[in-house]
Amino acid sequence: MTKELLKNFNISTFQNDILSWYGETKRDLPWRRERDPYKIWVSEIMLQQTKVDTVIPYFNRFIDKYPTVYELAAANQQDVLKTWEGLGYYSRARNLQNAVREVVEKYDGKVPSTPKELSSLKGIGPYTKGAILSIAYNQPEPAVDGNVMRVFSRLLMIEEDIAQPRTKKLFEEYVRQVISEEDPSSFNQAIMDLGATICTPKSPACMFCPVQEHCQAFAEGVQEHLPIKAKSKKQKTMPYVVLLIKNNYGEYVIEKRAENGLLANLWQFPMVPINEISIEYLENWVYNEYGLRVRLGEQKGKLKHVFSHIIWQLEIYDATTDQVETEDKRLIFVNKADISKYPFPVSHQKMFKHIEGMEK
Ligand code: SF4
Repeated sequence: MTKELLKNFNISTFQNDILSWYGETKRDLPWRRERDPYKIWVSEIMLQQTKVDTVIPYFNRFIDKYPTVYELAAANQQDVLKTWEGLGYYSRARNLQNAVREVVEKYDGKVPSTPKELSSLKGIGPYTKGAILSIAYNQPEPAVDGNVMRVFSRLLMIEEDIAQPRTKKLFEEYVRQVISEEDPSSFNQAIMDLGATICTPKSPACMFCPVQEHCQAFAEGVQEHLPIKAKSKKQKTMPYVVLLIKNNYGEYVIEKRAENGLLANLWQFPMVPINEISIEYLENWVYNEYGLRVRLGEQKGKLKHVFSHIIWQLEIYDATTDQVETEDKRLIFVNKADISKYPFPVSHQKMFKHIEGMEK
C-alpha cells in the first residue's frame, strides 16, 4: 500500500527540497546546538503536548540544574518536580528521571542507541525513540507525532483517521520510505519545522511551502480538510471544593497527592469532591480520614482547569482549623513563606494569590 501511494512521489527531489529549506531556515533551538542524546531526550519529552516557546526556558533551567544524566539520576524527585512545575503532565518528569537512573545503572551513563534498548526505558514511546535515534545518532528512524502525520497526510493525501493507533504505524511506514538515509537527523527536524511553522493545523501557508510542488492535497485544494481526525470523547467535568485552611499559628495545610495517577506526588491545597459533601456541612467537618476539623469561611473564587481527559471545576474557600498536625504524613502545615518551596500543579499555584489576599 505504501508503494502504491508513493508511486508518483519523487522521493529524491522531495528530500533535496526539504533539506535545503531546512539548511536555510532552521530554527535556532537550545537543544539543536549540539547532538547530546540526553539533551535531545529531555527536549523531546518536554515538547510532548507543549509548545516550543514554553519549553525553551524550562529546558534551559533544567539543563543548567541537571547538565548530564548523572545529576538528574542523583536528584531528589521533589526537586525535579519543582523544576518541572508549570509544565504539566508530570508523569513525564518522573518517567524521565526513572529512565535516566536506568541509563546510569545499566548503560554506564550512555543513552542507548538501539531501538530495542531505548524503547525498554520508561516514558520512551515510538516517537521519542525515533527522535533520539535520528536526531542524536543520525539513524534513519521515523519520529511520527501529530505534526508529522498532519504534514504527510497532506503531502500524500492520506485520508485515514489519525486518531487510530494503527494509522500511526502506517505513517511510520511512509516516513521509512521517504526519509533521507544521508541526513535523517535534518530530515526529521525539517518535517517537524515545516509542521510547526508552515503546514500548520489551520490555514497552512502553502504559498511559502518549500515542498508545495510535491503536495497532493494542495494540488487538489483539500489541504484544509486534512488530516482526518475523529472527535475524541467529551471530557468529564469533576467539581471540587478547594480548602485554603489556616491554623492559629498562621500555617496553611497542604497535601501531597497519591504516588500514582494524575499529578502524582505533587502538592495541593486539600480538595474535596463536591458531590461527596454539601458545603453547609463543611463547618466543623472532618477532612478525609485524616481527622482534620475545618471551619469553613468565605468563597474566594472559582477556577476551571482543563486536562486532556477531565475538567476540574474548583470552588475555592478559605477555612480555619485549631489543629497543628494530623495523623497523616501526606497532610502537613507550612508557613506561607515556605509554600512555594513545594512543587504544585498550575491550578494550585493559582491559589497563591488568594492566600496573599487572605494575608492582607
Ligand atoms: Fe502543507 Fe500546504 Fe505545504 Fe502541502 S503545500 S505540505 S498543505 S503547507
